[in-house]
Amino acid sequence: MTANAHETLINSAPIRLLIHGGAGAVQRDKLSAEREQAYRLVMAQSLMAGHAILAAGGSSIQAVIAAITVMEDSPLFNAGHGAVFTHNGRIELDASIMDGANRMAGAVAGVTTTRNPILAAHAVMARSNYVLLIGEGADQFAAEQGLNTVDPSYFHTQHRWDQLQRAIARNQLMLDHDTDAATPLTASDEKHGTVGAVALDRHGNLAAGTSTGGLTNKRFGRVGDSPIIGAGTYADNRSVAVSATGTGEMFIRTCAAFHIAEQVRMKKTPLPHAIDQTLADIAAMGGEGGLIGLDAHGHFAMRFNTSAMFRGLIAEDGIAYVAIFPETEASI
Ligand code: ASP
Repeated sequence: MTANAHETLINSAPIRLLIHGGAGAVQRDKLSAEREQAYRLVMAQSLMAGHAILAAGGSSIQAVIAAITVMEDSPLFNAGHGAVFTHNGRIELDASIMDGANRMAGAVAGVTTTRNPILAAHAVMARSNYVLLIGEGADQFAAEQGLNTVDPSYFHTQHRWDQLQRAIARNQLMLDHDTDAATPLTASDEKHGTVGAVALDRHGNLAAGTSTGGLTNKRFGRVGDSPIIGAGTYADNRSVAVSATGTGEMFIRTCAAFHIAEQVRMKKTPLPHAIDQTLADIAAMGGEGGLIGLDAHGHFAMRFNTSAMFRGLIAEDGIAYVAIFPETEASI
């Protein structure tokens, strides 16, 4: 490629990064101004981290990793530090990543000592012949790849511990409840704090990634959709990059992310419609949640069937847009 042709490509490919930090029944009046501000700040930092990579001509994969690690490192989200507890008082983390250029993918499930599960998922994709590693083996692989390992207590936060105690008291499998700790929880306080990102780089390549602690009070090695390629994460340059959050079992049963990508690719369904159809299917099964999607032209959608979804977008100009409740969706 000549320098000029390369410049043309660079000038024409729009960079985009979309993130989510979980969807659920967050009530505006139960989210304090301080807490809302804290969420917005971390989401903006996540967007800026990814944008710095995309603006410098870096890959969508690296942008997704950068955006997700910021949220994994924050105690606010149900991923990495601050993830939810299992019934046995453990924290078992799941993550996946996919490269839309070649449909390479990597994932880990049930890791307990890898500081940033999204990095482990990427290492599986880039440096193994496998797609999905679980448990101790996945942690061992991550350590052998030189990734940071931590004592499991690193992931602990008091409010997640309190959530677990409430869930056990109610004998309930809880989705992530993340209203202010002082607020009494009801079934309508459900929120999913999984994090995810989709990105488009200057070379026209898409990528998607998702990271989560799963469900509070989960048992028996339960794994949701987040580390399942085609359910919680999917990317294909020929269609879209997708990351999901919600009731994982229904997202697995509907092959949600892959289904959306294939609707767009095979039937030319507009992305927002493809997401809405999938969410309707999930709702019919009793599930709920949200999805973010992005195509190789920069068209995107962020849709959810809950009262709120933590989400954000950044494009060429580097201005970070973040939103939580539906009425602001038009602005992003
Ligand atoms: N989808 C995740 C799971 O089922 C949970 C979430 O999105 O909050 O593990």
